[in-house]
Amino acid sequence: MATYIVLLGPPGVGKGTQARILSESKKLAHISSGDLFRENLKNQTELGKLAKSYMDKGELVPDDVTIAMIRDRLSRPDCEAGAILDGFPRTPAQADALEVMLKEFRGSVDAVPYITAAETILVERTGGRWTCRAQGHIYHEKFNPPKQAGLCDVDGSEIYQRDDDKVETVTKRIRVYLEQTMPLVDYYRKAGKLIEIDGTQSVESVTKVLLGALKR
Ligand code: AMP
Repeated sequence: MATYIVLLGPPGVGKGTQARILSESKKLAHISSGDLFRENLKNQTELGKLAKSYMDKGELVPDDVTIAMIRDRLSRPDCEAGAILDGFPRTPAQADALEVMLKEFRGSVDAVPYITAAETILVERTGGRWTCRAQGHIYHEKFNPPKQAGLCDVDGSEIYQRDDDKVETVTKRIRVYLEQTMPLVDYYRKAGKLIEIDGTQSVESVTKVLLGALKR
C-alpha cells in the first residue's frame, strides 16, 4: 500500500517547508499544487496562463483543472510509494476526487497534519517569504535567511518574492482559505485522520512534533 499524507493549513503557516522535510524523511514524493501551477506559469503553458488569472487575485484555480493536474502528477513513477500533498486538496470537491483517485493508486489518505497559526503570524511570514526560482525552496528574510543574500542555499538559483505574497493578496488568500478550505478540517476530523499541530513554533520544533505524531 502506498502512503499519502495531506498537509492542511492556511497560507504562510509553513506547509511547504514542512512538506519538503517530511518528503525527505519519509522518502515520499512532495507534491505542491502551488509549485506545479508556478512551474506551468514559468513555462507559459495553457494551464499556467489560466491559473495566473486566479493566482494573481488570490483565488482558487477551478477544481476540474486542479484535480486533473494532481491526478497526472500522482500517476508518475516517483509517487509509487506515495506522496506528501501540500496545498491539495483545498475544497471538499477536491478531497472527494482525491479519495477516488487514490483508490486507483492503491492507497488512501493516511494522515492529515493540520498546522495552524494566528492571522498576524501568517501575514508576517508570507510578507518576508522568499522563494527559489528553480525548485521552490523557501526562505524568510528574518526567520530563515539564505546564507548568501538573494541566492538559494540548495541550488544557487535566484530567490524572489511571490507576487501573491503581497499583503492585500495574502489577506484575500486567508479569506478564501477560511471560506473554501476550512470545511476540510471537519471532513478529515470526522474521518479520524486529523492531527492538530501548533505552527507558531520554530521550523525545527514543528518538524519534531509532526514526525512524532506521524509515528503514532
Ligand atoms: P500556494 O503556493 O499553495 O499558496 O498556492 C498558490 C496559488 O495557487 C493559490 O492561491 C491558488 O490560486 C493556486 N492553487 C494552489 N493549490 C490549489 C488548489 N488545490 N486548488 C485551487 N487553486 C490552487
